[in-house]
Amino acid sequence: PKPIVAVVGRPNVGKSTLFNKLIGRRHSIVEDRPGVTRDRIYAECEWRGREFTLIDTGGIEPKTDNIILEQMKMQAQIAIDTADVVVLVTDIHSGVTATDKDVASMLLRSKKPLILCVNKVDNVGAPPPEIYEFYNLGAGDPYPVSSVHGIGTGELLDAVFEHF
Ligand code: GDP
Ligand code: MG
Repeated sequence: PKPIVAVVGRPNVGKSTLFNKLIGRRHSIVEDRPGVTRDRIYAECEWRGREFTLIDTGGIEPKTDNIILEQMKMQAQIAIDTADVVVLVTDIHSGVTATDKDVASMLLRSKKPLILCVNKVDNVGAPPPEIYEFYNLGAGDPYPVSSVHGIGTGELLDAVFEHF
């Protein structure tokens, strides 16, 4: 069976944008306003000649007024239950939030292979010093990515594939 990779993260960190970039086509609809993204959830992908299934857990439940943390815990649990590798997406602009910490510790407790993506690092070259804060999540090296520009996605996928 094909390995399954699940993308988890707070609303608006760029999960759907990353998902679109990784599948290479504009399959899902991304809007600028938070909470209105209508996501495609699953896509069949290929990297270096190997196929895998990508899941955007942000699309599993319609966005409601529920507490974000509760939604994220549900999404993280789905990722833990179904995926071979989980990608936790965070945002360099917002830094590490309390919700990021809660979800990271939940994912780490599960022992599921976890790759930490720091999105919205749009500049080519050395990542900004703000990247070091993300080591505090205890999820290993943060992978700087710009999902909009497609920067760093190859390194991210290589890190994911080390766990297949
Ligand atoms: P989701 O809620 O986690 O699925 O986030 P979306 O993919 O819908 O993106 C939320 C917002 O962040 C949108 O306005 C995106 O254009 C923006 N965004 C996503 N990735 C990047 C990125 O790499 N750089 C920048 N500057 N903005 C991004
Ligand atoms: Mg989304």
